[in-house]
Amino acid sequence: MRSIYFDKDIPKALLVKAIKPVWKDVVFSGLSSAYFADLPEPELPGLRWLRVQNSACGICATDLSLLHVDADPAIAPVALPGNQRFYLGHEVVGTVAEVGAGVTRFQVGDRVLMHTRYQGATCLSQEIEPICGQCRLGNYPLCENASAGLGPQGVGGGWGDGYTAHETEVYPVPDWMSDDQAVMVEPLAVAVHTVLKRLPEPGQKVLVLGSGVVGLNVIQALRAFSPDCHISAMARHPHQAAMARTLGADEIIRGEDGYEATARITAAKLYRGMFGNRMLLGGFDIVYDCVGSSQTLHDSLRWARAGGAVVMAGIKLTPAKLDLSPVWYQEVDLVGLNSHGRDDWHGRMMESFDITVELMRQGKLSINGLITHRFPLERWREAIKTAQDKRSGSIKVIFEYSNAT
Ligand SMILES: [Zn+2]
Ligand SMILES: [Zn+2]
Repeated sequence: MRSIYFDKDIPKALLVKAIKPVWKDVVFSGLSSAYFADLPEPELPGLRWLRVQNSACGICATDLSLLHVDADPAIAPVALPGNQRFYLGHEVVGTVAEVGAGVTRFQVGDRVLMHTRYQGATCLSQEIEPICGQCRLGNYPLCENASAGLGPQGVGGGWGDGYTAHETEVYPVPDWMSDDQAVMVEPLAVAVHTVLKRLPEPGQKVLVLGSGVVGLNVIQALRAFSPDCHISAMARHPHQAAMARTLGADEIIRGEDGYEATARITAAKLYRGMFGNRMLLGGFDIVYDCVGSSQTLHDSLRWARAGGAVVMAGIKLTPAKLDLSPVWYQEVDLVGLNSHGRDDWHGRMMESFDITVELMRQGKLSINGLITHRFPLERWREAIKTAQDKRSGSIKVIFEYSNAT
């Protein structure tokens, strides 16, 4: 079973980090702790476990940060014992190839998506009773027993031939859904979760910062949930700007200074202090920061109006350095999220995945034009480079396997 994985090997990680500035392809070399390997086919480790044969899998920025050893050992999640090995690839659709005797939710031949497995173990996957408060709410990525280490661990991931998982870690794919649509469910669910964290009122002005896959999906989720809000999108590349417009952005900010654009669009007043320090009174009702760097967060907090909000949809695996004063001085809320979970949709609490699939069925969330490149697994280096270099015109790059329909 071919698989691309990353081992938690601190000395190797430090070496790669040191060499990366002068040799950026070091992550593809023998010095890296990322491996492309042919592993022995794993046994199912429990009665409620199953085996999935992959059809297609997306390349996501989170996988790339792991591959490139971007994580700083000082960030909070690194303190958790967790896995020693991360199998890359979680936006994956496949077919159930084998089920344990205790599996009740799936049969051989069913199409499934990886659901919670990438975020880590849950009470359900470890068969812990009673389940914790977060799992009871359906917020599985926030499980309080995630690091209990009580259950077996799955082998394999999305970037490879297949994987094993507890039956509660995968999600059924409806018959009407294509493999391409299925691959986009997880990235769309993240956008749904982002927007439902802070839903704009009709007429409110929002900014989507970043027009990669996350930003583009946030734009279409905003249009689906709040058709009458005014959306500005900040984009770097022309193809991203065009897609942002297609998916519903009213205004594209490209090549314009963000402070001046905020003042222009929201009629906020822009003030200039010393040493390039700038501040606005007024601004966007909500800013969705789909980049998540120190710089974008710093700016987002200033581009939100007093009493507004910044939703952090982009994640960075390094501690941020930024001025938090807008949080108290302007009472701006800073809200974060971990992938997907449980959301309030019209007063009903539902899983982000369920809401996403329903909106896709209704045609309110679409994948048109989002999958720009397809590669076989053997060309993984080229696939990863294409995903990273947006000058290639890439939005979502996927791996396709021979199992694909
Ligand atoms: Zn993803
Ligand atoms: Zn739990």
